[in-house]
Amino acid sequence: MPRVGSDPKLAFIYQSQPARVVFGEGSLAKVPQEIDRLGRSRVLVIATPGRRKLADELATRLGPKSVGVFDRAVMHVPAETADAGRAEAARLDADCYIAIGGGSATGLAKAIALISGHPILCIPTTYAGSEMTSTWGLTEGGIKKNARDARVLPKTVVYDPALTTTMSAMLSATSGMNAVAHCVEALYAEQPNPIVSLMAEEGIRAMARSLPVVVKEPASMEARSLALYGAWLAGASLGAAGMALHHKLCHILGGAFNLPHAETHTVLLPHAAAYNQPAAPQAMERVARVLGSKSAAQGLWDLEARLGVPLSLQSIGMKREGLALAADLAVKTPSYNPRPLEREAIRALLEDAFSGQAPRSWPAA
Ligand code: NAD
Repeated sequence: MPRVGSDPKLAFIYQSQPARVVFGEGSLAKVPQEIDRLGRSRVLVIATPGRRKLADELATRLGPKSVGVFDRAVMHVPAETADAGRAEAARLDADCYIAIGGGSATGLAKAIALISGHPILCIPTTYAGSEMTSTWGLTEGGIKKNARDARVLPKTVVYDPALTTTMSAMLSATSGMNAVAHCVEALYAEQPNPIVSLMAEEGIRAMARSLPVVVKEPASMEARSLALYGAWLAGASLGAAGMALHHKLCHILGGAFNLPHAETHTVLLPHAAAYNQPAAPQAMERVARVLGSKSAAQGLWDLEARLGVPLSLQSIGMKREGLALAADLAVKTPSYNPRPLEREAIRALLEDAFSGQAPRSWPAA
């Protein structure tokens, strides 16, 4: 009997996300008409300092519809940055936000929209995927809090692959692995469903095909388009299916130790997949099949080695003395994972990731 998704009984809930997606090279030019479509006329453009030039160009393109540019987005949305962004949006009487950039710009726009309720139009320039989710995050006192709220789901997402060609090979590869992580966790989600699993599998396929080309030929529009398509599927999978241990550990390491987001995802992913392998064999079989490997963890590890990305937490700024606290935080609050969260096993997983060892083979649950 063929099996659909990872639910042999075929019972599921599928909630489609109401975002409008405009995809293709040159789509940036369509942003003014998309703002008209939203019926808004006072746009605040939000970016990281690194994307300021792009944000200014967009504001110019919007003409009188733009009321300003706020370029103070940083990773993990510190509470004080959110406060500053909310104050600026209120001062300018903005009625719409455009986030142009990676997940940090999107995250700040979400923090502002959470309070005001005004719509967000997103123009992603990395593969983080936040533009397709209703999840917002805020970091306060070293703890990153995440929650869902329909108000922060961007109403329109404009994907223009031309904007991603400026990403370095390293940012492209690690951001791409961030997207792959969304797909992997969607495949063993608490409430899996066959549609999301199809998107997630296709997302991994698109990323695994495109990223090796992207790192060698960053200007290849064909590879950039395929990677951004994969990032859309990955974000949509994350938005529909939710997260498990892998994302939880990344949030802990980002919030408590300020580790870089995409690199942290990259280092942890093969280890989280190995940890969950015994408890989610069907999902892992799909990942392994797409990657053409004998196991999901090995396939992810091999892809990363090929991309030349960091493979140890140590190399991205983690200190060994923080591992015990990270393991404590992982089990402190209950959360879904296909395999129960066992403190000592998670400590061992983190040790493997810290030192950059290949993912281990865990005994059957
Ligand atoms: P980022 O947005 O911080 O970008 C990383 C750096 O790359 C920044 O300096 C930025 O200016 C630069 N950059 C962005 N696009 C570029 C381009 N095209 N060319 C050159 N440089 C470019 O990093 P990110 O990985 O995209 O996003 C990480 C953040 O997103 C984290 O805070 C993470 O928690 C959040 N996130 C949230 C969700 C969600 O669903 N809420 C999902 C994924 C990520």
